[in-house]
Amino acid sequence: MLRYSYVILFLCIYAVVAGKHDVYKGYSVHGIKLTNATHKEFIHSLELELDLDVWQHGTPKLRDAMVMVSRENTVSLMEKLDTMGLDHYVHLRDVAQAFEEHDLEISAWKRGRSNVLPFEDYPRYAEVDAYLEKVAQEHPDIVTLVNAGPSFEGRAIKYVKISTSNFADTSKPIYFLTATVHAREWVVTPAALYMIQRLVDRRPEDQDLLDSMDWIILPMINPDGYEYSHTTMRLWRRTRSFRPEISSSCYGADGNRNYDAAFASVGVSSNPCSDIYPGPSAFSEVETSYVRDIMQANLQRIQIFMDIHSYGNYITYGFGDARLSPNVAQQHHVAAIMGAAIDPYKLPQAPYYVVGNSNLLMYETSGCAQDYAQTIGIPLSYTLELPEYGFDFRVPPSYIGQINSETWHGVAASARAAVLYYRARN
Ligand SMILES: [Zn+2]
Repeated sequence: MLRYSYVILFLCIYAVVAGKHDVYKGYSVHGIKLTNATHKEFIHSLELELDLDVWQHGTPKLRDAMVMVSRENTVSLMEKLDTMGLDHYVHLRDVAQAFEEHDLEISAWKRGRSNVLPFEDYPRYAEVDAYLEKVAQEHPDIVTLVNAGPSFEGRAIKYVKISTSNFADTSKPIYFLTATVHAREWVVTPAALYMIQRLVDRRPEDQDLLDSMDWIILPMINPDGYEYSHTTMRLWRRTRSFRPEISSSCYGADGNRNYDAAFASVGVSSNPCSDIYPGPSAFSEVETSYVRDIMQANLQRIQIFMDIHSYGNYITYGFGDARLSPNVAQQHHVAAIMGAAIDPYKLPQAPYYVVGNSNLLMYETSGCAQDYAQTIGIPLSYTLELPEYGFDFRVPPSYIGQINSETWHGVAASARAAVLYYRARN
């Protein structure tokens, strides 16, 4: 009996001591100042050698790189950075503790409020789903809710079509917006929901956006990964597909390397455990195949495609291997209009938006949504990296409203510019 009590006592103590984010115990995050393109290559080589988790790739003289490293590899990382003459600093000393504190912050935020809306918070999948159902029910005149199909684990992946003519007026261009392909980039989900809310609010100043365009918004491409990042591993990025014939222990693929655009050529890893593993073949992930199908079904009319990520204040366009599209001047123009529309509304501590080719600004990639849309003929195709206000993936919920509203200014401006180019073409 006494021994049994000891066991109970031990379990109680363990429950108190064991943290949800223990898997990140001993991990730290380091900021690295980059001054030229060679440094980016260097970081990329370290990524594979020291198994770094790159939180931000950085842009020489504009944005620091941010890398997470295990305790075992910290000394090697420091030595290699010092040898290379790179300035660096500790951004997070203890990743596990940082996320424990972030959890407390989120709970306190929720406790202090009643009726928090899903776009003011970090909603779970079920809350996103309920919100989409509610919006469709309350605005049947302009909203159609579509179930694209099940995720790998069976969650319905839904998107809204917003139109004053129920998509019957085929003279209008379409704005296609997607979010949450990378599970851990939580702040992009409320941002995508807020775009829906703004459109259904039908404020007088936004009315032209409905009159001149139709909208397709898919707020959560990767619900399985997103839920896993809530329940089990906060920094999960990939899908959750399971292919025992390829790996018995590593799940998923990087959804944003999985599209059929120079698939698996550059900026990927063939290791199925890597965060940039593109999957065994293009569109192996059912989630990205739905995005493809939406693009293909509306190809004649989608004028602009925007895939929302976090973080870094970037608006980038293709291609991931540094080739440029023939209409790069238009692409750059619309991205610049968007960035310039957001900047006046940002808080002072955020950097100004930077726009440009994704390879030149950030890093080489292949198989990303931005490139696929461009390849199949969507004229304006972008990746949007939202601000983080100094909090990396731990953006406090109190900043969500700010990020939503400043981003809305950019989306609205990009929509208006896209319409002008559409009219010039048609
Ligand atoms: Zn991302």
